[in-house]
Order: sequence, then C-alpha cells, then structure tokens
Amino acid sequence: MTNIAEIKAFSKPLIANLQKLGINNIQGLLLHLPLRYIDETRITAIRDLRLGDSTQCEGEIVHAEVTYKPRKALIARLEDASGQLTLRFLNFYPSQIAALKVGTKLRIYGEVRNGFFGYEMVHPTCKAVGAQTVVSETLTPVYPTVAGLTQPNLRKAIRTALNQNALSETLPASIYQRFKFPTFAASLQALHNPLPDADLQTLEDRATLEWQRLAFDELLAQQLSMRKHHARRRSIDASQFVPSKQLVSALLKSLPFALTTAQQKVALEIEHDLTQAHPMQRLLQGDVGSGKTIVACMAALQTIENGWQVALMAPTEILTEQHYRKMLGWLAPLNIQIAWLTGSQSKKDRTASLETIANGKAQLVIGTHALFQETVRFKKLGLAIIDEQHRFGVQQRLALRQKGQPEPHQLMMTATPIPRTLSMSYYADLDVSVIDELPPGRTPIVTKLISDERREEILQRVREACLHGNQAYWVCPLIEESEVLQLQTANETYNLMLNEFPELKVGLVHGRMKPVEKQAVMAAFNTGETQLLVATTVIEVGVDVPNASLMVIEHAERMGLSQLHQLRGRVGRGAVKSTCILLYQKKLSETARARLKIIYESDDGFAIAQADLHLRGPGELMGVRQSGVPMLKIADLDRDVHLLEMAKSMADELLSKYPFEVERHLDRWMSSAGELVKV
Ligand code: ADP
Ligand code: MG
Repeated sequence: MTNIAEIKAFSKPLIANLQKLGINNIQGLLLHLPLRYIDETRITAIRDLRLGDSTQCEGEIVHAEVTYKPRKALIARLEDASGQLTLRFLNFYPSQIAALKVGTKLRIYGEVRNGFFGYEMVHPTCKAVGAQTVVSETLTPVYPTVAGLTQPNLRKAIRTALNQNALSETLPASIYQRFKFPTFAASLQALHNPLPDADLQTLEDRATLEWQRLAFDELLAQQLSMRKHHARRRSIDASQFVPSKQLVSALLKSLPFALTTAQQKVALEIEHDLTQAHPMQRLLQGDVGSGKTIVACMAALQTIENGWQVALMAPTEILTEQHYRKMLGWLAPLNIQIAWLTGSQSKKDRTASLETIANGKAQLVIGTHALFQETVRFKKLGLAIIDEQHRFGVQQRLALRQKGQPEPHQLMMTATPIPRTLSMSYYADLDVSVIDELPPGRTPIVTKLISDERREEILQRVREACLHGNQAYWVCPLIEESEVLQLQTANETYNLMLNEFPELKVGLVHGRMKPVEKQAVMAAFNTGETQLLVATTVIEVGVDVPNASLMVIEHAERMGLSQLHQLRGRVGRGAVKSTCILLYQKKLSETARARLKIIYESDDGFAIAQADLHLRGPGELMGVRQSGVPMLKIADLDRDVHLLEMAKSMADELLSKYPFEVERHLDRWMSSAGELVKV
C-alpha cells in the first residue's frame, strides 16, 4: 500500500496536513470523500436566480463603494445581460476593493439571499474572468479538511491519487453487478468529480449507487474481518467442561427464587459453549436487574466442578465488592473458595490472595482490571467473566484471555443493550445471548422530568422519603471535561445536602475516593445507616441497594440516554414503588428535549439504546474511547441497514468462493481505517 510520503508530487507540509486528517496511505486519501459539492458547471443569468440556491453568475462590476452604515461594508453591483445583483463583504482587504473595480469582469459563486435592494450574495467567491476562463466540467467537491490545507490543494492531492493506478477492483464482478453497483474505480471517480447532471441532493444524501457501493464495500470489509476473527477462534483449542452434575443444582435449590425462562435459556447456551473444544466468546445482554449475575455464577460452577478456576472482572471496586458479597452468600455453603483482589487490601492480604490464585486454591477470583496485572498468575484459568464489558477496552479483555493456557472461555456481560445493527456489525465476531425478561414482582419506576427551578419541592420530597424509612440517591451533574471540576461539584453538592438535611445522615461517594473509603460509604448505605447518598455517576453500574427508592439526577440533559437508563436502574430493586426525578436546567435545546422525552416515555433498554444510536452515533454507545475498534467512515448504521444485510449475506459467499479477493478487499479497507486491533 503506497504511503503518501512516497508520492513524489507531495510536499512535506501537504503530507503533514494529510496525516493530521488521519490519512496515511493512498487508499486513505482516495477514500477521503466529499462532505458536499458546489456547482460551478453552469452560469446562471441574474434574472433566473432563486432565493436560497448556491449559484454561479458572471458579469461586470458597475458600481462599488465602501459604506459605513449600519456597519462597514464593501458593496458592489454585478450586472449581466439580464439584470443586477448586490455583492456584500463585511470583512475585506484593500486588495478586494481593488479587485471589485468598476469595469472588472467577474465570475462569482455564493448563496442567493434577500437584501435591501433585491437579491444579494454575502461573501461570494470571486474569480476574474479572462479570455480562457472555462466553466468546470464536473461538480466541485468540498472535503473535510484542517487549517492550513485549502480545498484547492486537497482537491489537487486527491486528483493525483486518482491517477496513481490504485483503483483496482477488489470484488468479483458477479457480486457487485448483482446489486447494479458500478465498479470501485467508477464510484470513486464519480464521487470525487461528479458530472454536472448528477442530482446534488441525492449525492449529498449519499444515496447514489456510487455512495452505496463504497458503503457496501466498507461494511463488507467489516463483516469479513469479523468472520475471520470468528473462524480463528474456532481453530484454537480450549478445555472442555462437561455440564455440572452437583454444584449448579445445589445452588439453584438454595435460591429463594426460580430462574426466569429467559435466564434458563441463556444458561443452557452458555453451558453448551463450555462443553466445546474452542473458546467461548459470548456476550450476555440483559437490561439492568434482569439477573445476569446468577447466570454467570452457574457458568462459574460448571467450570469449577471440572477442576478449573474462574475470574470475574468488574469495572469498579464498588461493584467487585458487591459481587464478592453476593458470591460469598451463594457459594460459601457449597465450599467454594473465593479470592477478592481489591485496592484496599493490605500488602499481606494481597500476597496471600495472590498465593491462593497461583496454587489453584482460589476457585473463583473477583477483582477489577487489577486481575490482569502481571503479578496475578492463575494455576488453571478456565473461564473469564467480564461484567459491564463496555467499560473495558479490547486490550484489557485480551490481557485476561492470555492468563490461561489453553485460552480460557470468555463470558462478557452488559446491561447496555446493543441495537441489532450494532451487534450485526461491530459485535459480529461474538455470540450473543439475550435475557429479555425481568424477574417477576418488580414495581415499575416512575420517571419525572422536572425543571431545576422546582428544586425546593424536590428537596422536600427527599426529606420525606428518608424520614419514612426509605433511602435516596442524589446524582451530581456530570462534568466530563474535567475530573477536578467533577470532584469539586461532588463536594459542593454534598455540603449543600449536609446543610439542607441536618436531620438525615448523608454519605458521599465519587470516583476519586480511595477504595477503602468507598467501601465504607457503600457499606453504610447498604445497611441503612446513611439515608441519602450523594454520588457521581460511579454508581451507574451494578450498585444494588433494594431499599433505595428515590433517585434525583441533576442536569440530566448532560447525560447519555443509556447512562440515564443505567442510573435509573439503581432504584426499583425492592418492593416499594420507586421514583426517578430528572432535573434539567432551562432552557433545553431541541435535541436535549427530544432525548429526555425518550427516557421519560420508555423503560425499554433496547428502545433507549436504539434512540441513543440514532442521536449520538455508535461511538458514544460503545464507549469508543476505550473500545479500540475502528469506526465506520462511510456507512451509517442508521441509514444503511439494507447494505449491512447485503454485506452480511455476501460475506459467506466470498469467504467460500473467493479467498483471494477477500484478502485484497480487507487489505484495502483495513489499511485505510488506521491500525486495526486484532480482536
Ligand atoms: P443485572 O442483570 O443487572 O446484573 P442482577 O444479576 O444484579 O442484575 O440481579 C438483580 C437482582 O435480581 C438481584 O438481587 C438478584 O439476586 C435478583 N434475581 C436474579 N434472578 C432472579 C429471579 N429469577 N427471580 C427473582 N429475583 C432474581
Ligand atoms: Mg450486574
């Protein structure tokens, strides 16, 4: 793949600017596609101008002056055979005044607006017309760019790339012709230089066959790469664990509840995976409170009964403690040895834990990402369970997989439901199980949207709830940009609450506390010693205190929908009716209003995630910052669902019949996507 640094025609500064755009090789440059187009292929008579159109005209300057009222402006009149048009410049250089001298012939391009004297253009681009000036033969592309790289220079660079013989076809004709798609080369030529008769709107909506061809190619590359990962996994050995004969049934007998049908179904899927000779990589999805933990526990017991160890990794200390307590309650009666690796352990305890992990005495090991540090050695790791998987990066999950020999089975759990299009694309290499029903007897949570102006009323509500033996969370505003500010806000909110409620016990928990402190605060809230817990979004995942029935979330408009849904899921865990109050700051923007409306109207995690995908794109939903997965650049999972379906069905055919083309196709698309993480 030609690196852009090897293209002789490119200067050093150009190369540096292209790299700033994330473009490193010729494929990346070719696939840097226009945002929109301007039409400089025709000249419109001034008489035929239409309000709002961006249009090109040509004529002679018949008047030019600098006016000072209402503010300084350069005003000129351009005349052609059919009429006159005003040109207005609010910022201008002396050179521009000179360029607009009366008598100059100009070709201008701009948007037609209503002005004082009929139609006008504000800041049109102007070109002097000489004897050889010709109209463009193609629409002019406008690309995403960076400061220092002008459109003409970028266009020139792309034109150079288009002439480098790098447009060979990767797919067999029988595949792309089936969908009436043009060739790859024709598609790129048409998108970088569309013919004048192309429909601008269809082009800009990315709905032409050329756009679709490229989006299809990109989705296809993603499908192929996922299939290859999947196939690779099936070629690796893993230990096979026969279904549990004693431990699982003993556990189920000891529970005060029966599994839901959905839990039984996914438990069977996982049980089957563990009997297989290649490592499981299953994603267990289930809304908050759907009961994923017990299912994971059953998988752990099957592994343990076969003589292997299990690691359970969760993203926060609070959550690992909760898992530890729960597992202890379930598994201690079965004589299972559990080790808990925590940041608050004394050195001596930690050494002792590490020892039991290394000699195999610890059958179940619970911890945060501390689990994959080098000092942690397992004797026989058979299964790695990762709770709230979207909180971990690909690298972290990989590291845990390398802790076992042969590769351990992996069970990932998430309460952030993954819309179908996402699981078909980004998660296509995983097997997915869904718990789609909540245990019986839950009372639905009432959600209220209340303006911050009614804060007094809300404080009163919190007081009443707490004085009546219930407990409440007060979630501080999210300040994503700054951890320092976040901390400050949490402390301020806490002090406000202390002042407001002298009669209540108030706790504070935030992400920067030491693990021991956090544990103490959570323990006090768990036992009911504190009644009100002021918290940052650290409580978003997994925290389970059934007596808490009221939650107030400040500045709800700043949070993502899935995040709000997770937070809200912290209440409604007990028998009492629960309420979640979303406080918002006036005035809400249109989008903020639309988002809050969704969370207010729906308690269906899938619907909420789908809406989140629609409003914010896949990156936010997947926590891309840590996911390390290359994102789609051309295809849009909202708009291109049909292409995704097509790519999915074509991937199998290609893999079986055209292995050579598959490699070529992956080479083109994966190298232009930047570095590809091998999942
Ligand atoms: P999540 O899927 O959000 O991790 P948990 O596994 O923490 O949910 O389960 C939520 C609560 O529901 C726990 O207290 C758990 O013991 C309880 N639970 C799980 N399954 C059932 C069931 N089938 N019937 C009743 N309660 C259940
Ligand atoms: Mg959970």
